[in-house]
Amino acid sequence: MINEKLSNPQKTIEIIKKYDFAFQKKFGQNFLIDAHVLDKIIAAAEVGPEDFVLEIGPGIGTMTQYLAEHAREVVAVEIDTHLIPILEETLSEYDNVTIINADVLKLDIAELAQEKNDGKPIKVVANLPYYITTPIIMGLFESDVPIDNITVMVQKEVAQRMQVGPGTKEYGALSLAVQYYAEPYLAANVPPNCFMPRPKVGSAVIRLTRHKEKPVQVKDEKFMFKLIRASFNQRRKTLQNGLNNSSEIDVNKAQVVEALEKMGLSATVRGERLTLEQFAQLSDLLS
Ligand code: SAM
Repeated sequence: MINEKLSNPQKTIEIIKKYDFAFQKKFGQNFLIDAHVLDKIIAAAEVGPEDFVLEIGPGIGTMTQYLAEHAREVVAVEIDTHLIPILEETLSEYDNVTIINADVLKLDIAELAQEKNDGKPIKVVANLPYYITTPIIMGLFESDVPIDNITVMVQKEVAQRMQVGPGTKEYGALSLAVQYYAEPYLAANVPPNCFMPRPKVGSAVIRLTRHKEKPVQVKDEKFMFKLIRASFNQRRKTLQNGLNNSSEIDVNKAQVVEALEKMGLSATVRGERLTLEQFAQLSDLLS
């Protein structure tokens, strides 16, 4: 018999009481208790019987159970040692799940993908503490890990920032970084009452499908991202002032104005007006 599903408040409370589990704030532990949200995550991630899925932060295994039923194989990486005996119980009926007790930031995911999926693109599903979501996503995209898509639960505002373009107040370095590597798709908005305990903020599920080909060509990727960060560090400043003041890149006002002129842009334009294509062009002119 397949284990009774955890995706309801009663079962979750039962497990937590049985193991006398204490929620740890530092690990951002808010467990999902809503089956509809889990269905939406599985559908958004497009998990199928051929797939190898890396789950980051399984908690008590609520989403892991769903993943195990849809995927070929699942590896779930959990930092909190206290959760390991719980996961061993809640996932005992699934022979396609491996639990790793580790900090995902210290794990060699490229090696894992090589070993478990012959180096073919993997799917990543995560409901993570918000403060490590961005470093994890960017780390995965910037490294050599073969990725098909990443489906993550993030703070609602972060999901917005990942999707927007120039001319909105949410537009920034994260929007450009995400869109350079992937196509974002908002799969669901998730209110606080879908978690135990309830977080203070609204959440959203966003899928990032890695581009097969980058949407822009740029000579020096690293320089472009330095330029982007410097442009949004002082977002109320014009580009010529913001970039001139930046300690990360070595360009002066005259060089910036000359490059902007070549691009047909005003000398007083701000970074928040530029598209990814324009940042790539500016980067090529200044690098
Ligand atoms: N996936 C579960 C769910 O949806 O109910 C739990 C989600 S909870 C928001 C985040 C989980 O990530 C916790 O179980 C936490 O212990 C784990 N976690 C936090 N930081 C981690 C890290 N650096 N590496 C691996 N797991 C981590």
